[in-house]
Amino acid sequence: MAKYITRPNGTEDVTPKTIHKWKTVETIVREAAEKFGFSEIRVPTFETTELFQRSVGETTDVVQKEMYSVTAKETVFTLRPEGTAGTIRAMLQNGMLAEALPQKVFYILSCFRHERPQAGRLREFHQFGVEMAGSASPYADAEVILLGKTVLDTAGLKNIVLHLNSIGCPTCRAKYTQALKEYFAAYTDKLCETCMSRLDRNPMRILDCKSPICGEIAKDAPLILDYLCEDCQAHFAKLQEILTGMGVEYTIDPHIVRGLDYYTKTVFEFISTDIGAQGTVCAGGRYDGLIEQLGGQKVPALGFGLGLERLILTMENQGCEFMDPNHCNVYLAPMDDAARPVAMQLAAKLREAGIRAEFDLADRTFKSQMKYADKLGTDYLIVLGSNELEQKQAQLKNMKTGEQRPIRLDEHFLEDYTELSLNDMFGDGSSLL
Ligand code: ATP
Ligand code: MG
Repeated sequence: MAKYITRPNGTEDVTPKTIHKWKTVETIVREAAEKFGFSEIRVPTFETTELFQRSVGETTDVVQKEMYSVTAKETVFTLRPEGTAGTIRAMLQNGMLAEALPQKVFYILSCFRHERPQAGRLREFHQFGVEMAGSASPYADAEVILLGKTVLDTAGLKNIVLHLNSIGCPTCRAKYTQALKEYFAAYTDKLCETCMSRLDRNPMRILDCKSPICGEIAKDAPLILDYLCEDCQAHFAKLQEILTGMGVEYTIDPHIVRGLDYYTKTVFEFISTDIGAQGTVCAGGRYDGLIEQLGGQKVPALGFGLGLERLILTMENQGCEFMDPNHCNVYLAPMDDAARPVAMQLAAKLREAGIRAEFDLADRTFKSQMKYADKLGTDYLIVLGSNELEQKQAQLKNMKTGEQRPIRLDEHFLEDYTELSLNDMFGDGSSLL
């Protein structure tokens, strides 16, 4: 036999055994986003490479090392490494920024980055992301942070710390960049090769380098917070005041600069203290220059990306609850060929009423039908033999308790089923009133 082909490194399959975990987080993020007034947007899986070069930034790890690019018919495309660039492109291309502002959108999408795969770090991963365009107010920053927190709280996560920083605007950054250049110039023999190339073009990127040596050097580097202009200082102070007023706890972390170039002012990360190196579950901030950089007007904007694999991983580690896996409500077990069409008709009736019903599709013996029904986690079983068909009555068996009640197989079937199953769940109707 030929050997089957395995999936590429750093990708994952979601099988029927784990799909309920994805449905859980997708439901949580959708409901939270919609409550905050964000609408869903869907953008292409690939874009022209230039889009990411212009937005994410030429000196970032993502653009320098992690992009999956293909040349097709002489155009270079890249599988999206993140969702912001494509979303802003779509907002521009669809004239959304000419409509009432702020525009508030969210997405659930796959991202592709060529990284070293490990727990919580994949080459294809999924993000829930939000983008708000058209508000410079610190209330917008607080609102976006609150949405991220709502998702993590609804998922039931504990031990999550909100790290907050401001990385200023181009005005404050010019002075800061100069200070960084002077600081790092003393370490040119120790910095990694990538950081050496960043020293001239974008020294702030060195602060985000994952190499332990660069990290050690960066520890004593000048802090952006000491270089903020008046406007950025005031914005940051107001944001903190709003968060404190809303009872949101945070810690100021002058070391977060975020991995992508387009950020200005606020940056934040929700970090789990228990998934180690891949602890950042949600990360985002403000990017007031991005829309202009992509050819639009100067429209302030902000957002975040939340890694769904990391969210699920943290939920698993913390024993958080997921919705129940989809299971069969009623399994109809025909004993012979004459009962099979009846089983199919009854299943159709149940489904019309919104009940998940299945019946034997494999000509199984009674015993193996029982085993199969059990594996489906069936709530109720109805056995259909010649006796049952003749008397137009069968037994509805509760698979958990073994209890049986008679159910009519005529036009009263659905009525009986509803009453019997409700009685079963709530007692004999009395507690329903
Ligand atoms: P990290 O510092 O962990 O590499 P990042 O700064 O590259 O993260 P962002 O670009 O901000 O991450 O992406 C937002 C979120 O997407 C991250 O906080 C994380 O939850 C998730 N994420 C990023 N890269 C991966 C990956 N390779 N696999 C799984 N999730 C990821
Ligand atoms: Mg990264």
